[in-house]
Amino acid sequence: MFMIEIVFLGSGGSIPTATRNHPAIAIRYEGWVLLLDAGEDVQRQYAKAQLGLNKKMAIFVSHVHADHVLGLPGLLLRFSLLGRIKPLNIYGPKDLIEYVKVSQSTINLGTTFEAVVHAIEPGIIFQEQNLKVRAFKVDHRGYALGYEITWTRPTGKFIPTKAEGLGIPKGPLWKALASGKSVQLDDGTKVTPEEVTEPSPKPLKIVYSGDTRPCDELSTAANGADILINEAMYTTEHEDLAEERGHSTAAGAAKLARDADVQLLILTHYSPRYYEGNEIIEEAMSIFPNTVLARDHMRIQLASDGSCIVVKPPEN
Ligand SMILES: [Zn+2]
Ligand SMILES: [Zn+2]
Repeated sequence: MFMIEIVFLGSGGSIPTATRNHPAIAIRYEGWVLLLDAGEDVQRQYAKAQLGLNKKMAIFVSHVHADHVLGLPGLLLRFSLLGRIKPLNIYGPKDLIEYVKVSQSTINLGTTFEAVVHAIEPGIIFQEQNLKVRAFKVDHRGYALGYEITWTRPTGKFIPTKAEGLGIPKGPLWKALASGKSVQLDDGTKVTPEEVTEPSPKPLKIVYSGDTRPCDELSTAANGADILINEAMYTTEHEDLAEERGHSTAAGAAKLARDADVQLLILTHYSPRYYEGNEIIEEAMSIFPNTVLARDHMRIQLASDGSCIVVKPPEN
């Protein structure tokens, strides 16, 4: 059993408001912090959320538009002033290399840790234990990516009759197999957990759209996802603007989630014109009821059994 926690550090789109920052989403998992985009002032949001200084960390940038990267220099500065040691890997479009280089050059004493920028193409870009990140191309203005993050789950339920059938004595060997380890019997026969357990459930999947019009690549990535985090810049009233500027409407995101058989849709990056976002969530829920509107410091806890809890942000 493991737990993944998504922390929304910024739910605004384009222009921050008094209560909603530029886009940034942290995903915590077993000592790791994965950061999706780093909008302006992400460092204060990061500190407020108490995500930690020396965590194993990777940053995934969807595209190099100011509202998604303005916070990177501040985050690098903060980590340096506080003495971060662990390397920091940053993944995204190739324009990031120059941007991070210039950002680093503005930090007087230099960064106290190694910041490595990986210019990526669509495909698997990150793998760590049972966690895998795949980048895919989306339909925005210029080169823009979405991210599909999956976690393979522990082996299925142990089946004692199968273990008995294979002549495995009850005791430590059963325990090892049930916890997903292969064992060797006295006669040298090797037994894998798959031989004595139910099939593993499908991997857990969280998909992040970045900025995009609804598109086939996003639908494919989102197919069967436990959680789809999708931008929803406008309501249908401004469909023309969404099309022109390469964004999704609430209805567009909701239809995509419905058709891709997503469990939970979270809408973020909504325009400051929808101050509280009521119009956005109403439009989406009329099409796909299992939708939640992101707010800064809202947390979503996703357990390895697929169950999900939405934790509202604190009042202040
Ligand atoms: Zn944006
Ligand atoms: Zn953009």
